[in-house]
Amino acid sequence: MVKNTTNLEEYNSVWDSISNDLARQVKEESYNEFFADIKGVKFFENGFAYIEVKDGFIRDRINRMFLNGINEKVDTFSSSLFKFKFLTSEEVEEALSIIPSDNKGNDTVKNDLSINPNNNFENFVVDDVNRSSYLFAVKVADQPGVLANPLYISGNVGLGKTHLMQAIGNYILDQDVNKKVKYIKTESFIDHYVSCSSKADYSSFNAAYNDLDCLLIDDIQMIAKATESQKAFFKIFDSLSTSNKQIIITSDSKPSELNNIMVRLQSRFESGLVTVLKEPKFETKKQIVYKRLKSEHNIHKNEVEEKAIDYIVKNSTRSIRQLISLINTFVFYTTCLDYPLTYANCKLALEDIVEGEVSFSNQNESLVDNIKEIVCEEFNISEKDLVSNSRKKSFVVPRHISMYLIKEYTSLTLQNIAAAFNRKDHSTVINAYENVCNNIKEDENYNKLVEKFINKLSLS
Ligand code: ADP
Ligand code: MG
Repeated sequence: MVKNTTNLEEYNSVWDSISNDLARQVKEESYNEFFADIKGVKFFENGFAYIEVKDGFIRDRINRMFLNGINEKVDTFSSSLFKFKFLTSEEVEEALSIIPSDNKGNDTVKNDLSINPNNNFENFVVDDVNRSSYLFAVKVADQPGVLANPLYISGNVGLGKTHLMQAIGNYILDQDVNKKVKYIKTESFIDHYVSCSSKADYSSFNAAYNDLDCLLIDDIQMIAKATESQKAFFKIFDSLSTSNKQIIITSDSKPSELNNIMVRLQSRFESGLVTVLKEPKFETKKQIVYKRLKSEHNIHKNEVEEKAIDYIVKNSTRSIRQLISLINTFVFYTTCLDYPLTYANCKLALEDIVEGEVSFSNQNESLVDNIKEIVCEEFNISEKDLVSNSRKKSFVVPRHISMYLIKEYTSLTLQNIAAAFNRKDHSTVINAYENVCNNIKEDENYNKLVEKFINKLSLS
């Protein structure tokens, strides 16, 4: 572990920008109490820039009220991935006294980003949509280099690829802290390689990838067109995989869909296990919000109006990253102004950021159309038959499945779903939903069929 006590300009300049923002947003007396005395970043270690504050009281208040809002802003002012942490002067002193002497004042290797300890399996909320990806990750973490090499996690942006990948790294390190686990973003990998190649000195590059137990490489699609870096990566890949060292790769697309990547790399990516992370369901997203409120803000479920949570989830269209950002903004806003966590305040806090209710009603509408379309196509029936009153089994089965999918994937009320099938009574929807849930449990083929629709939906 390296504590960097020099070259802190970048972190300090990010802090200054955030501090200026806070000065504008927070009441003057709060700003003076919490932030005015801060002297800047004391040291940097493992992805955290440490700031000293006067005492434990201030530290705890900052952590409770501002920390997430502050860290949320890092992205705005820096391209590096790091977070701020606040310590008392005693804690800073203690931390600095255990810097190994030969590391004092050393630079951290810039491209060697650390793994976020919060990206662990416990914090990952699982439902039947993302369960298989989660289970593969757990198995690989448990037996690295044995079951699936590489493990290739693909999926749309902000759905937890980096989280799952880092959870594997954290798990391996929890089992044995001496394991050499390296996490790197693909852009940093390329930067490192290019800078070595311009100096014609590959020693730091070779040292970084030599002798690893596990390599986590994030967003591999970024290596497109970087032919020399691809060749370098190919060598590393081969050397690690032949010695059964685990490689985990994430990407926004499946190996076969990668563009401008060497065919031999693509086929290596396919040689282990490819899993596609899908968008969690509405209820799962709510669970993620509650979990996050508790773990990051120490806010309990019953302190927030449920309608506010629904509003946040509805507005977070596709990505969990956006969902988390909305929660943080809501908490930041209400804490700064000392407002309760109500639906009305949630709308006030977020109305400028989200696109408005019209857009999610549009989104629901297009999802309903999409669901009806793929179900009709699979069963080879017309939409007229799907929404008709006919009790023929060949129409009832697809109708029930469509209702189930709409309930799971949109925020429509039961009445609205009934209306989408020309029905007034929403009990039909409840029956259909329960019926499909039972069939999924009892009939493997039926379950596969529903999963097929879910896959189609998450890809469309
Ligand atoms: P990606 O790498 O796919 O773009 P990330 O792994 O960065 O997405 O996830 C974005 C954010 O959402 C992270 O804060 C992550 O912890 C959170 N997240 C994603 N999926 C889940 C989940 N199933 N449970 C809890 N948090 C999640
Ligand atoms: Mg990512």
